This record gives sequence, C-alpha cells and structure tokens, in this order.
Amino acid sequence: MAPRRTRKQLTMEKCVVCSNMTSEFNYKVTSCNTCKMVFRRAIRSKNPIAPCTCSTSKKGCRICKFYACVRAGMDIKSLIILPKLLEQLSSLNENRLQIFFNFQMTQDLGIEEIMNRGFVKKRENNVVFTAHDWVSMEVYSTIQFMKGLNVVNLLTTQDLMYFTKNAYFKSALFFISVRSYTEKWECMTFPGHLDVFPEEMSKSAYNPVLLNRIRCLLISKFIEFNVTQDELLLLIAIIFCDPCPEDLSSDAVNVISQFRSIYTSALFNVCCQKGNKTGAIRYMNLICISNILTKTMVDLNQAVELFRYWQPDLPLRKLVSDSF
Ligand SMILES: [Zn+2]
Ligand SMILES: [Zn+2]
Repeated sequence: MAPRRTRKQLTMEKCVVCSNMTSEFNYKVTSCNTCKMVFRRAIRSKNPIAPCTCSTSKKGCRICKFYACVRAGMDIKSLIILPKLLEQLSSLNENRLQIFFNFQMTQDLGIEEIMNRGFVKKRENNVVFTAHDWVSMEVYSTIQFMKGLNVVNLLTTQDLMYFTKNAYFKSALFFISVRSYTEKWECMTFPGHLDVFPEEMSKSAYNPVLLNRIRCLLISKFIEFNVTQDELLLLIAIIFCDPCPEDLSSDAVNVISQFRSIYTSALFNVCCQKGNKTGAIRYMNLICISNILTKTMVDLNQAVELFRYWQPDLPLRKLVSDSF
C-alpha cells in the first residue's frame, strides 16, 4: 500500500511556500494543496520542466514555483517508491543497450549538440565499427539513459549542461565496464571482443600497466564483490547525481543532492535485504567503487594526453575530446 502523503493538522497555519493558510502537511512541511500539486507534478513529470516565464506572465511560472517548494524544504524522497525506482533504471538500461547495439551516429558531434537533439540512425548491416564508433555509441546511449532520470527534468537548461558535462563521460566509462562485466569479460571490451583502445594507437608508446589498469580495475571490483545489476544501476545513478560542479545554481545543487540521497538509501536498502547483518559493510564497499571510477578517469586522462602528444594527427571523436 502506498504511504499516506497528506496529513491534516489540527490548526490552520501558513503554507511555508506561499503563505496561504492551510491545515495540511505535505512532503515534510506545512503546505497547501496547491503547492503540494505543483511539487508532485514536477517530480512525476516525464518531460523537462518548462523554462521560467515570470518576465512575461504575472501568475508565476512552474519552475519558479517548484524551486520555491524545494527551498521551503519539501522532500522529494516522499514521492519515490523503491521498487518503481529499480524498474525505471532497469528499463532505461534496456533502452540504452538497444540504442548501443542497433544504432550509429550520423556525424561526429560534441556534447552540446547531442544534448539538444539526437543524431543517430539505424545501424547498417555492412558497417564495421571501430573503437571510435563504439565509444561514441557508448557515450550517446549513456546520455539517453541520463535523460530518462527524473532529476534531469527538474533542472534549467544551463544547470543541465553543467551537470551533464561533468558526468557524461565517467558514466559512459562505468557503463562500458558494466556491459563487459555482464558479458563475463574481465576487461573492458567492445562487441566482437574489440579492444577499447583504437587500433591505430601505437600501444608500445604507453605503459602497459596504465592501459591494463584502465581496462580492468573497475571490473575487478565488480567481480570481487559479485555486484548485481540492481546495485550497478543504483551506483551509476549515484555517480551521475554529483552535486559538485562549481557552476551549478544552489537550487540545482539542492535537487541533485536530494536525488543522490534517494539513490544512496535505495542502494543501502538493497544491500541490507541481501546481506542482512553485513549489509552496511557491503554498502560501504560498493560506494567505494566510485573512487575506483575516479582513479580510472585520472588514468584515462593521462592516456589521452599521451595519445595527443604521440599521435597528434589522429583525431579523437568530439564526444571523447569534449571530456578531456
Ligand atoms: Zn502553498
Ligand atoms: Zn519563473
């Protein structure tokens, strides 16, 4: 049974959002029915929240009303149901894999262009993908996954761009590892067991330990902890919901942090259901995997620098170079 979300209070008090008198208590604050509905509709919406229209309309716009609710302390978590959250992540991931395996990019485009609209077409049968093509599709399908998360619909266009730029490549890197791990490989690989590093890269110029660490370190952690699909999907959502980029507005930081906390408590619950007494330890171990991802990104950054230095005439795809 869904939890009761509206509580009546005995006395009339001011709504903490709009100051109208109310006897209701919604999402952890004293709030009127109108503000409750504004908040609920925004969180449940499957479409991006419309930009501010306050300069042209006197009534006040949806996004400003929604952020007023957030600032007044309305709690997003009260609206999230754990099994549905896992269902949503799992269906977004299926869609991501469908795009990854069956589509190809029509042009070499950067992150800003990709965010605005899709540039893919059904993959032609006779096309042989290089590592560059696969990495583009890995990044593209990761961005489509991200766009399906509720948090993305609640940000302004500018915040969304800062937020995505910070997270998209490390999330794609995580997904490469997840897919390879699910296919029972011990190193990152593209379909047909193609190496993640491009063929034309003269690998003798690189420290093999560095390249192998990039290929294997994350997956070795997945194997060590025998991480499940649900845990991996929650981890990726936690990694994605990083409220740290400097340029984010304080409203965006507030919303992103609330979503991060929703995903971390969902992961904690999943760990505890599975391991009972050792659930908390498992949770800590899994959370630490995000440090391994950070380390892999540092290693990859070094490899990209070397690639640019040793083989400056070989271009990287924009979706890769935009991130390094
Ligand atoms: Zn109100
Ligand atoms: Zn507005």
